[in-house]
Amino acid sequence: MTDTLSAPASASSAASKYSVPQERRIVTAIPGPRSVELHKRRQAVVPVGVSSVLPVYIARANGAIVVDVDGNQFIDLGAGIGVTTIGHTDAAVVRAAHEQIDDVLHTLFTVTPYEEYVRVAELLAEHTPGDFAKKTVLINAGAEAVENGVKIARKYTGRNGVAVLDDAYHGRTNLTMAMNFKAAPYATGFGPLAGDVYRAPNSYPYHDGLSGADAAKRTIAYLEKSVGAEDLACLVVEPIQGEGGFIVPADGFLPALQEWCTANGIVFIADEIQSGLARTGAWYASEHFGLVPDMVLSAKGIAGGLPLAAVTGRAEIMDCAQPGGLGGTFGGNPVAAAAAVAVFEQIAAGNLLAEATRIQNTLVPALEKLKQKYDVIGDIRGIGAMIAIELVAPGTGDTTKEPNAAAVSAIAAYAAQQGVILLTAGTYGNVIRFLPSLALTDELILDAVSVVDDALATL
Ligand SMILES: *Cc1c(COP(=O)(O)O)cnc(C)c1O
Repeated sequence: MTDTLSAPASASSAASKYSVPQERRIVTAIPGPRSVELHKRRQAVVPVGVSSVLPVYIARANGAIVVDVDGNQFIDLGAGIGVTTIGHTDAAVVRAAHEQIDDVLHTLFTVTPYEEYVRVAELLAEHTPGDFAKKTVLINAGAEAVENGVKIARKYTGRNGVAVLDDAYHGRTNLTMAMNFKAAPYATGFGPLAGDVYRAPNSYPYHDGLSGADAAKRTIAYLEKSVGAEDLACLVVEPIQGEGGFIVPADGFLPALQEWCTANGIVFIADEIQSGLARTGAWYASEHFGLVPDMVLSAKGIAGGLPLAAVTGRAEIMDCAQPGGLGGTFGGNPVAAAAAVAVFEQIAAGNLLAEATRIQNTLVPALEKLKQKYDVIGDIRGIGAMIAIELVAPGTGDTTKEPNAAAVSAIAAYAAQQGVILLTAGTYGNVIRFLPSLALTDELILDAVSVVDDALATL
């Protein structure tokens, strides 16, 4: 299980760029003694509302591997929820951040500006879909990007209504918790929630069996009846839903929604916080669906692990906000911005879009083999390095597709013991998502899938 794989000659030179050997290695019980000790300290001072998937405390991370304080090495299939997309502690990102740290840590762009912010805005204008003039505001986190996108859309349209979809996830701030599909744990007891948020049916081909056109018709009819297009400022959609379980909408669903938005003066906002930045083998997942959103939200992977988020939109929409209406103390911090510039450069220089496709091409066939063996795997879906399996109760895959959250928990727990970090997802907690960094080698993919195979066999 912990054998070092003899890499082929062509791969060994590539592997040498990593400061941590790219292999899993379990040397203690999980969690190990030092993690258990740290966990005790944490429980005294960190509230239970901040929970952790796996209470192993990480000391180092590089490429696709994280190393805990007890010396255990895990294959990281979560990448900090899709943040370290180009790999943990990518050398170019680390170098760019170090250099920036020595020059200037903070001035506040809205007091005295600096070049790195402008450069990130230029790169976003270049790489988000659409060849029209675009402008970008930088903030700190995904939820803040959603908040700002909605703010700007409301100002631009003079309308209040915000439309979202079933199974959506948009954050944990006051507005965004009202935009999420799941009340628990994100909103339960945290009200009053923001008003003027309207949730409409999505496209979930595995469950609704609808064509994209029919699903869009249903969504649009619902919004026209329950709100009315003339009161909607924006429709916010994740092109591939993240927390909802990597739900890929049926072909034609998103373009039909966009067409309806455009015809009715509704700002179409793509929340690409999880799906963007090379994750799916395109700069932005919108491209897979022929979407050219009015506004694109970026966060998670944009700065290689440093906190940064962005709202990029049509210049005429973005410029509707009055001077001083947008920004924040840390938004577009110089170190985070310098790291983001390095991320964009690395994606282009390393041809990393192709790496996402490579991961799909290795991972999906391996998962298909498991699906032949285990009927609890109901669905395999996703694009690029954003792949999920949905687990159903035995024998219900062709009928009711009963959610099987127990199997998901058992598989994730088993995998952790064997040195594989797996993230769960899905409105019913019955989805395992594979959201690795693009540094994940084919050998590590097959190794991790063999662990999932063993886990399924123990169910
Ligand atoms: C993570 C996420 C957010 C929220 O981002 P934070 O940085 O956690 O505030 C919003 N939308 C989507 C699609 C996400 O995946």
